[in-house]
Amino acid sequence: MSATSEAARETGARLAAAAPLNATLHWSQVLLDAEAARVDAMPSAGPLAGLPIALKDNIVTIEQPTTCASRILEGYVSPFTATAVTRLREAGAMIAAKTNMDEFAMGSSTEHSAFGRVTHPVDAGRVPGGSSGGSAALVAAGVVPAALGSETGGSVRQPASFCGVVGMKPSYGRVSRYGLVAFGSSLDCISVFGRSVHDAGRVLSVMSGPDPLDATTLDRPPMPVPSPLADLRGLRIGLPREYYPADLDAGVAAALRRTREAVQDMGGDICEVSLPHSPYAVPTYYIVAPAEAAANLARYDGVRYGSRKVGPAGDIHSLYRTTRGEGFGAEVRRRILMGTYVLSAGYYDAYYRKAQQVRALIADDFRQVFDSGVDLLLTPTTPTPAFEAGEKTEDPVSMYLADVFVSAVSLAGLPAVSLPVGLSDGLPVGAQLIAPFFEDERLLAAAAAIERAVPSDVEAR
Ligand code: GLN
Repeated sequence: MSATSEAARETGARLAAAAPLNATLHWSQVLLDAEAARVDAMPSAGPLAGLPIALKDNIVTIEQPTTCASRILEGYVSPFTATAVTRLREAGAMIAAKTNMDEFAMGSSTEHSAFGRVTHPVDAGRVPGGSSGGSAALVAAGVVPAALGSETGGSVRQPASFCGVVGMKPSYGRVSRYGLVAFGSSLDCISVFGRSVHDAGRVLSVMSGPDPLDATTLDRPPMPVPSPLADLRGLRIGLPREYYPADLDAGVAAALRRTREAVQDMGGDICEVSLPHSPYAVPTYYIVAPAEAAANLARYDGVRYGSRKVGPAGDIHSLYRTTRGEGFGAEVRRRILMGTYVLSAGYYDAYYRKAQQVRALIADDFRQVFDSGVDLLLTPTTPTPAFEAGEKTEDPVSMYLADVFVSAVSLAGLPAVSLPVGLSDGLPVGAQLIAPFFEDERLLAAAAAIERAVPSDVEAR
């Protein structure tokens, strides 16, 4: 047996053993073995030769179903494969599984899946974060070294923080969205989970670069694999005061304090900065993203994709109503309603246009801070460690507020990474580093230095 097919067997055994997490929606040993055979037959070993990678189930491949964890796409198999996946395969990676998620990537806990919630790998009573919770849990549990998720507004950084792994959201336009099921097209980014900054960087490097199939990719060469910085001398690291509220969880605050000290020990220059429009990021995101979602999800009408439910009247309207009414879960229906409302005549100016204006102010806040000579920003990724299952499902706004520290970056299109920087009562805490647009490589180079200096498995208090 080749080393690759052995790796495929071991990955399959770990996937089977991880079943209680409910982190996967589709995988099979047959497909894994076929991936190994394909990699072994490649004329030369690629940079990711034999690396098993899991994909969030909103990234399409022709070999497996893509459901977005929704009943409405049950049984759907895409006729094409996402560009990012094609590039990973060409680099020798093996696609291991499709992972569970919040339905259509809407959520922050992976409780809004039509196929059951994902459990946190450390504490089964808690959530792994979301919406890419299945991918985060698989990496945290050591099942795969890396996995893809998607970010519209924090869906990789937030679960990475909850699960204690690295989660990297690239600059908008760095990685092709071709084959990522659209949620909020002006925000969506394929993003990466890794056990380490290095693994996340290797995977991102392979996927990055322009793609004629996605006009929003930037015409710049792929990102090189970042080399970790030896120290942080000469770098100014800003702490935005809006991201350190007085009521920040004590364990999170302690872990961030320790991270800041490590940055200073490595010669980094810490300064306080302000991003004054931060309080508007969550409300702005929850207007822009649902508006785009309402438009993008109009295509699931029972005619072309997935499941079709003929209604009682037997006509086309009844088909739409029944397919969409039964096929979408409650959170997706709520988003479509919100999005339709903010786009409707009479409300468009008050909500949607206003939100676009505020979005520009939020992006400007970052630009001003970076223009003033700050190289990177350091913030907590989330206000608390992983919360309990069921804690926020009855109150959508409390769920939305789990994204307070991650939404603004998405609205501004910037690259950001969440790193595990310690434990709070045994639960992982993440620190977020944010860089100027398209400085993904420099971001990861600095993150690797911090990763080396801050222990992720030690209580912060
Ligand atoms: N939690 C956010 C939402 O529910 C972000 C989702 C995402 O990034 N896909 O919309």
